[in-house]
Amino acid sequence: MIRLAQSTFGRTPDGTTVDLLTLRNAAGIEIRVITYGGVIVSLQTPDRTGAFDDIVLGFDDLESYLTKSRYFGCIVGRYGNRIAGGRFTLDGQTYPLATNNGSNHLHGGIKGWDKVVWQAAPFERADAAGVVLRHTSPDGDEGYPGEVAATVTYTLSDRDQLSVRYQATTTKPTVINLTQHTYFNLAGPKAADVLGHQLRLNASRFTPVSDVMIPTGEIANVSGTPFDFRTLTPIGERINETHEQLVRAKGYDHNFVLDRAGDALTPAAHVEEPQTGRTLDVATTEPALQFYSGNFLDNSRIGKGGRVLSYRSGFCLETQHFPDSPNHPAFPSTVLRPGGFYLSETIFGFGTRG
Ligand code: BGC
Repeated sequence: MIRLAQSTFGRTPDGTTVDLLTLRNAAGIEIRVITYGGVIVSLQTPDRTGAFDDIVLGFDDLESYLTKSRYFGCIVGRYGNRIAGGRFTLDGQTYPLATNNGSNHLHGGIKGWDKVVWQAAPFERADAAGVVLRHTSPDGDEGYPGEVAATVTYTLSDRDQLSVRYQATTTKPTVINLTQHTYFNLAGPKAADVLGHQLRLNASRFTPVSDVMIPTGEIANVSGTPFDFRTLTPIGERINETHEQLVRAKGYDHNFVLDRAGDALTPAAHVEEPQTGRTLDVATTEPALQFYSGNFLDNSRIGKGGRVLSYRSGFCLETQHFPDSPNHPAFPSTVLRPGGFYLSETIFGFGTRG
């Protein structure tokens, strides 16, 4: 079987070639990754009858990723999620960051790591195929201190799992919070929205946000709220309730604090799509996960094969540290220092059930 293929996806305006890497496993699961933003442009998995379909949102061409993406499928860096007022203080020094979400900094700023071309080294093993993506972010990039050398490794194994492994070092004290921003719709490309998907989150707490989507600092219990996904519940069941947090975010767009015993990989989320039987399992070393129900998608973007990327047509499960951690000393630290090593891993498992 051919596990790995490489071709050209397109060229950026400055002439840089963007490669397309195709990873396949023994079951026929196929993941296509481009070197621009490390974007997963397609992901084919079987449904319960064995029929393959693409379960992620995105575009057919590079031009669309360059000009109209909402972080479809990309690696987010240096900091996934928001930093309030686009600034933070570390070791007594305040760093102003690029602001690109009202007064806040979102997903690494104006030109985050989703908008750079990564160096790619594909590899093949007896039971897996993958690609090592490398990027060096200069000192001062989007306002962040330190030159950061980052590696993100995608590995698709014959266990029907995609591992995303993040590693980084820095030359100066800085903050870092990397994640992956794939929008899933397990029902395939013809499905309208994701509201029928059933979701379980291994989280008994979440971090409520202000009206500009910044954590208030409270760590709230999910009991008795529409944020309680500890048992399998359709995404759409409570999404339109008048709970203040749902109203503020226009649906789910919240950081769930995972119930975890230590630093090891811990189950974070389980999703089932009733029509096709497809399932998705997410395990991570991260302390939290942003569950985003695609509330900011409108009908203005046309995606792969002419699909309208409509309201709530994809959901993201972004494993991460908490939003705005650099401004919340009580949250788990996102500080990386010279000599330190940033390591984070998330595993997406693909399956079906009858
Ligand atoms: C955030 C949303 C944001 C979206 C951008 C998500 O990670 O939680 O608030 O609008 O990314 O695509």
